[in-house]
Amino acid sequence: MTDHDVMPEGIDPGVPSVARMYNHYLGGKDNFAADRVAAEEFIRVLPGIREMAWANRAFLSRAVTLLAHQGVHQFLDIGSGLPTRENVHEVAHRVAPRARVVYVDIDPIVLAHGRALLQTPLTSVVRADVREPEALLAHPEIGDVLDLTRPVAVLLASVLHFVPDEALVTRLMSVLRGRLVPGSHVVVSHAFEGDIDDETREAGQRPYRLTGAGGLTSRGPERLAELMDGLEVLEPGIVPVQAWRPERHEDEEEVPVDLTLPAILAVVGRR
Ligand code: SAM
Repeated sequence: MTDHDVMPEGIDPGVPSVARMYNHYLGGKDNFAADRVAAEEFIRVLPGIREMAWANRAFLSRAVTLLAHQGVHQFLDIGSGLPTRENVHEVAHRVAPRARVVYVDIDPIVLAHGRALLQTPLTSVVRADVREPEALLAHPEIGDVLDLTRPVAVLLASVLHFVPDEALVTRLMSVLRGRLVPGSHVVVSHAFEGDIDDETREAGQRPYRLTGAGGLTSRGPERLAELMDGLEVLEPGIVPVQAWRPERHEDEEEVPVDLTLPAILAVVGRR
């Protein structure tokens, strides 16, 4: 996109957005110069971020496929991001052609592009804030598409690290979990800094502080386990996204897990 394209209300192309920076990591074109500058600054600090972003998408696809096979045919994708390849409804529909998906994001550009590209008779795209979970769940379009009296998978992929307030993140997880009937699932992926030094941490924070999200909060396995409280965590537990049920041939080596390195961690819990 150029900075002169017609802009949805509330968008300042000069302020980087986490949705559009992530779009740049994935090689997308739905971003402005300010997003690319900030994303490139982060890539210099963490050169593996592009591969991590793709590994995060692949984890999400594997989790959605697994849950669809297990009979979960409703998905609430919170912090869904800009449309990309393998959007959640496309993945789910390969297994369950009638699966229903609501995409939720705070970013008005995600809403505009999502409405154009992701809206179908079985899907909807709404604007809501994960930090206000009661209002989010009460959004009328969610009720139009999903039946929360039946099992649903709540997807929180790479979004909770944009909620720095620990009490708030605990509360929002508790509110979301409280609305889920047995058989429902929560899928989380989350940034984890590993054993980086202070200088690297500061350099990585800088571009994210420029965004409306105001920073990137690392959480490790212990904290993610707390956030999954009340849910049965599926195997293999809390691991980097690449190591969560990877598709591999018998003769291939296991994906190594080294929690001293920066990672996007994955976890799936069942209610
Ligand atoms: N879930 C997708 C994935 O994992 O591929 C996209 C992740 S992208 C890194 C994070 C998304 O979360 C962005 O689209 C951003 O706009 C959205 N987001 C950030 N803060 C949010 C909030 N408070 N409520 C809802 N969405 C939010």
